[in-house]
Amino acid sequence: MKSLLSKIVNFIFPPQCIICKSIIDNEDGLCPVCINDINFITDPKCEYCGYPFEFKTDNKFSVKLSICAKCLNNKAKFDRALSVVHYNDASKKIILPFKHADKTNYAKIMGNMMANTIAPFVAKMDFIIPVPIHIKRMIKRKYNQSALLASHISKRLDIPVLYNVLVRSHFKHSQGKLSFDDRKANVLNAFDIKNPYKIKGKNILLVDDVMTTGATLNECARILKNFGARRVYVITFARVVR
Ligand SMILES: [Zn+2]
Ligand SMILES: [Zn+2]
Repeated sequence: MKSLLSKIVNFIFPPQCIICKSIIDNEDGLCPVCINDINFITDPKCEYCGYPFEFKTDNKFSVKLSICAKCLNNKAKFDRALSVVHYNDASKKIILPFKHADKTNYAKIMGNMMANTIAPFVAKMDFIIPVPIHIKRMIKRKYNQSALLASHISKRLDIPVLYNVLVRSHFKHSQGKLSFDDRKANVLNAFDIKNPYKIKGKNILLVDDVMTTGATLNECARILKNFGARRVYVITFARVVR
């Protein structure tokens, strides 16, 4: 039940779509037009990395698992990854202001969508861990966008967040303008684990805003497992699909 206060606030400041600013009658943050533009990631997708791809279910050689070519060649260190939306012009209107323009209030809307996407797997998770950003970038940006998402997913799914276990080991250049191979080299040894006893034998849900090549998340999963984590799942808000 809505409190009287929130009813009054909604009357004076009716909820708006965070993309087009039109007035909406729900608190999900998006109008039907923008939801349509956003392009949610649906099946079929890779059972491991969540990459969407065409999978013919009617062929007579149908396999039980649908696995993408990348995972068949070299399976990621995480056990399963899921993303909510495609990284496109519409979702960028949420992600870029959230990341770079202090729109921290978007975290609740994004986090709720992420929680819904990962909910079918929650029974398996012990802790949520956000992908950390380096302290220098933290000072510039004032917040870690992944930690904000993690805290909303935590509230929604009732799984505690572990901060200060997965940490940045030293400053790395931003991944933004690097090629796939450069990204891979850039993330190697970029992370470290503190208090490894906390993750020993535990199932971890890693949280990040965008999956681009998956190199960062793969490295986080690798080091978490090296220090004893049992399974590592990944949820990101958006996914770059080329
Ligand atoms: Zn809209
Ligand atoms: Zn895959």
